[in-house]
Amino acid sequence: MKVHHLNCGTMHPYVVPDGLVCHVLLVETDDGLALVDSGFGLLDGPQWKTRMGSTSRFLRPEYADTETAIRQVEALGYDPHDVRDIVLTHFDGDHFGGVDDFPWARVHLTADEVDAARARATLVEKRRYREGFIDELTVVGHSPSTAEPWRGFPAATELTDIAPGIVLVALPGHSRGHAAVAVDAGDHWTLHVGDSFYHHGQVDRTGGVPVALRVMESLVARDRARVRANHERLSELWAEHDADLILVNAHDPTLLRAAQVAAGRP
Ligand SMILES: [Zn+2]
Repeated sequence: MKVHHLNCGTMHPYVVPDGLVCHVLLVETDDGLALVDSGFGLLDGPQWKTRMGSTSRFLRPEYADTETAIRQVEALGYDPHDVRDIVLTHFDGDHFGGVDDFPWARVHLTADEVDAARARATLVEKRRYREGFIDELTVVGHSPSTAEPWRGFPAATELTDIAPGIVLVALPGHSRGHAAVAVDAGDHWTLHVGDSFYHHGQVDRTGGVPVALRVMESLVARDRARVRANHERLSELWAEHDADLILVNAHDPTLLRAAQVAAGRP
């Protein structure tokens, strides 16, 4: 499957010199288009405060309609109605904001994340998940299974109801049901690990991780021990230098640019 690497949201948090992006995958399947994460949507400009809450004060978004997934799908010459499925790593607003622009699409994520968004059981989760928002979506919950491990990750499930070669990999920690999404791009796999880490220095051991990102990661984590364990596992994966794997996350502009170059975009 052909995979496009899009930036669907730019943010300029204080003391994060390179800023942050919202890395979204647009996947061409045999019978339609699928998104992995959706970045910010058209409603996020006018309704920023109610949709993002207090986090926008730190993230300092630079909102632009042209960066939304729906406008980029149109700019690439596609019909937005061909986007039939959206796979989310988790339900934070900078990942699902674009979903509202594709009300006909099914929204896939782990059943654990769906349950967490409905229960809003902790203070962080009350802030994280807006009350009732999930009832407006066509949500499909999936349960990654230990019967289907993927590259050393213990639980995964192939989303064959979208297309063979799209795999939801359980990676809880940042949120209760957080997941990574692997996409078979023919001669390589793209693995989008969402917010499992924020800066490439956390996995490639080059350092330079802004302190502000470490603090933010810790504050919003559902399970800090699991976040640290995910860093370890992803560091190992990075060190293996698999030629057939492109590892990206949601917010690192360096990794977005590298993926775009690898995918042949000038
Ligand atoms: Zn995020």
